[in-house]
Amino acid sequence: MKFSAKLLQQAKATVEKMSSLPMPPLATVQELLKLYSVKASKHLSQNFLYHPSVVNRFVASAGKRLTGCHVCEVGPGPGSITRAILDRGPDSLTAVEKDARFFPMLKYLGDVADGRLKIVHDDILKYNMLEAFPPHLATAWHENPPPFFIMGNLPFNISLPLLFKLFDNISHRNGVYSLGRIPIIITLQKEVAERMCAEPMEDQRSRLSITSQYLCNITELFIINRGSFVPAPKVEVSVVKILPKKEFDIKLPFRDVDHVVKHVMHFRQKKCIFGVASLFPQTRKDLVETMFRLSGVNHNMKPWHLSMEHYRDLCYAFEEIAHDIPQLKLVDTYQQKIWLKHFDENGDPRPDENQSQEDVDRLFV
Ligand code: SAM
Repeated sequence: MKFSAKLLQQAKATVEKMSSLPMPPLATVQELLKLYSVKASKHLSQNFLYHPSVVNRFVASAGKRLTGCHVCEVGPGPGSITRAILDRGPDSLTAVEKDARFFPMLKYLGDVADGRLKIVHDDILKYNMLEAFPPHLATAWHENPPPFFIMGNLPFNISLPLLFKLFDNISHRNGVYSLGRIPIIITLQKEVAERMCAEPMEDQRSRLSITSQYLCNITELFIINRGSFVPAPKVEVSVVKILPKKEFDIKLPFRDVDHVVKHVMHFRQKKCIFGVASLFPQTRKDLVETMFRLSGVNHNMKPWHLSMEHYRDLCYAFEEIAHDIPQLKLVDTYQQKIWLKHFDENGDPRPDENQSQEDVDRLFV
């Protein structure tokens, strides 16, 4: 059967109009939790966001309307954010939830969402996020982001492992980040959000500031009052928007940057020479000197005073040194007894410790 262009246009307009209609009134989150006798699990860090104006403000951070967009929500729980996302008319919403007790409530939402809600029972750390987005809408890295969003009121105990996984993907532009610069909008403990955003000389400047800012623009959008959650969390919560940069400040994979920054920041209040020295066997003072000569960084500066350019130069210097001694990347600790397992008393790599790339990967998990 053949359709005229006019008929197709009319059909498209009707579908668009329907998907922009708000969801019918539904039971509140508290009513749903009561109805299904679900209690928050401490183990899964369940603090449910129920305040409608806060939920709306959170979802509006992605855009007033989400028509034509595809969203992956992390940990939908009883579905307050899920519902607000659906209300904005995305073409699809994939909600990944580990706790099956919420499925009847999510299914209830799905029933009125015209097939736009896909509920996935999985651990977000194992789930392949590529499945949540249609590949034909992907955009090239230097173009505008694709019409995709990763969103969620994240369980705090997995927020950092998840972000590290995504940062690793961003730095390689692989996994879900092979589809373009997908923005992430999430809740984080306020203190974690501040560490992510901190500039040099600010109290919260830390390992996380460098490893997130070299790849992404991070914006702390607003703070959610503890009373907007049931049960109220012990700490304050921030909403953060993370957008991958077109050009990274340090052109190295996340793990390599994290390795250097972790060591340097370990002695945050001391001169940076202490942290830099912990990247090498104790007997290789020559390599510490080489690091400072190659990078041009002043060894008296404190790690939390160093700029992104300083960290970039330190990372590049370490890469140059590790190019000749790749075993240096294997030792991810400050403990000398572990160093001595991989390097002899002169600081030369032990010949029997030539681990494979697989071993290196294991160390970074
Ligand atoms: N988004 C809901 C809200 O705002 O009310 C629930 C937020 S609650 C802080 C976190 C949710 O993430 C819970 O529903 C929990 O079961 C889920 N969750 C915890 N760990 C998870 C994981 N590894 N993968 C997917 N979901 C997880």
